[in-house]
Amino acid sequence: MEKKVNVIGAGLAGSEAALFLANHGVKVRLYEMKPKKLSPAHKMNSFAELVCSNSLKSTDPLTASGLLKAEMKALGSSLLSLAEECSVPSGSALSVDRELFSQRVTERIRLNENIEVVNEEYAKIDESQPTIIASGPLTSDALFNELKRYIGDDSCFFYDAVAPIVTLESIDMSKAFWGNRYSKGSSEGDYLNAPMNKEEYLNFYSELISAETAKLKEFEKLSVFEGCMPIEVMAKRGVDGLRFGPLKPVGLEHNGEKFYAVVQLRKENAEGSLLNLVGFQTNLTFGEQKRVFGLIPALKNAEFVRYGVMHRNSYINAPKALTACSQLKEHPNIFIAGQLSGVEGYVESMASGLYSAINMLKLLEGKELTPLSPKTCLGAIYHYITNASAENFQPMNANYGIIECDKNFRDKKEKKQYLLNVSNLEIEKFICK
Ligand SMILES: Cc1cc2nc3c(=O)[nH]c(=O)nc-3n(C[C@H](O)[C@H](O)[C@H](O)COP(=O)(O)OP(=O)(O)OC[C@H]3O[C@@H](n4cnc5c(N)ncnc54)[C@H](O)[C@@H]3O)c2cc1C
Repeated sequence: MEKKVNVIGAGLAGSEAALFLANHGVKVRLYEMKPKKLSPAHKMNSFAELVCSNSLKSTDPLTASGLLKAEMKALGSSLLSLAEECSVPSGSALSVDRELFSQRVTERIRLNENIEVVNEEYAKIDESQPTIIASGPLTSDALFNELKRYIGDDSCFFYDAVAPIVTLESIDMSKAFWGNRYSKGSSEGDYLNAPMNKEEYLNFYSELISAETAKLKEFEKLSVFEGCMPIEVMAKRGVDGLRFGPLKPVGLEHNGEKFYAVVQLRKENAEGSLLNLVGFQTNLTFGEQKRVFGLIPALKNAEFVRYGVMHRNSYINAPKALTACSQLKEHPNIFIAGQLSGVEGYVESMASGLYSAINMLKLLEGKELTPLSPKTCLGAIYHYITNASAENFQPMNANYGIIECDKNFRDKKEKKQYLLNVSNLEIEKFICK
């Protein structure tokens, strides 16, 4: 019998998913609302549009993004090879000519006889048809409301502000301590506290209020300031504002010592290898976040696995609603891919489209669906987004903090080489299943 799948959205995830399935003999109906309707960030009429920067990050397999790319290549990514064809020089990073890349992906899709493009806004989920929804962070309101109706209001998020995340191993522990305010909570301490004396605080403060912020697009301005206030905006209200807010030092003594201000970091994953800077929602540019937040003594050499961002982003509550094979738990014919599923970033979205398509193909062939190992970068992203806390879930990108490693290493490079070797083996096993 002919295999048929609906793919919703011809962005990065949807284009990758459609091409993978079509190249494996599946008839794909690809719904894309462009050019009739454009989201506030999309400008081109063509597919796979990179809405902002043209960088797809590093190709070095000893970086998390490079490792993810190596896995995608092994799994048969079309978009990655098209990106390489459209690359512009940028050292060890892969950057593309955005228009050329979008054109090439569009041509590849249009020329594929297994893909029928439907230029319509998709707004009614039909569970009887196997479907991959990849309508992105700016999913149309009609479809987002339909999703809410389908999986519940509390399973759909729409965030404006995210605080940065750093790795535990990059924190200077001689300048930080575990503990809870007034010693409430677990005995070992739920928060890692990064204290400052008066001089350090005033220096941090003056750099924070004069730091460069990223420009906000018109459509983002309204909602951003209603709910979560960026730390730099709060700071501008007065020099002591933060010391009565997120940097409050009261109840946080250590070995009898009191502090002028204390930044608190909360565990972002169960292992505690990633930490969220509590209350540090920000619109500073990425470079400024590293520079200014690096003035907090314990964070001098902090490795940022995700910077704070402020923009509209619709995504589902993956820990609640999604399986590690990217299916809706309650609706196994419906897969969610790309940024909407809770992954973060261009390459992660493509990878998620590919992974969903591979799993969809298995479903159509009546094969058992088994998740990719969390010892791979892609498997780790899925392990993370489906096991994180459902209460305050936020999307995740490729980083070493989430990849499972069964050995201890002193040398970071040795660890990365080991993880690359393990990933190769695990991807091979996954392909053979
Ligand atoms: C403003 C902004 C800037 C970003 N900048 C970066 C960056 O610089 N680097 C980075 O790595 N990541 C960035 N991201 C995050 C993310 O990587 C991108 O949004 C990425 O394009 C997500 O891929 P996707 O396939 O999930 O969605 P998209 O690429 O957005 O594709 C979704 C597609 O679905 C279509 N669609 C939506 N609703 C419907 C519907 N109901 N019916 C039919 N079609 C529909 C849209 O028109 C679109 O073509 C940014 C996100 C935003 C919002």
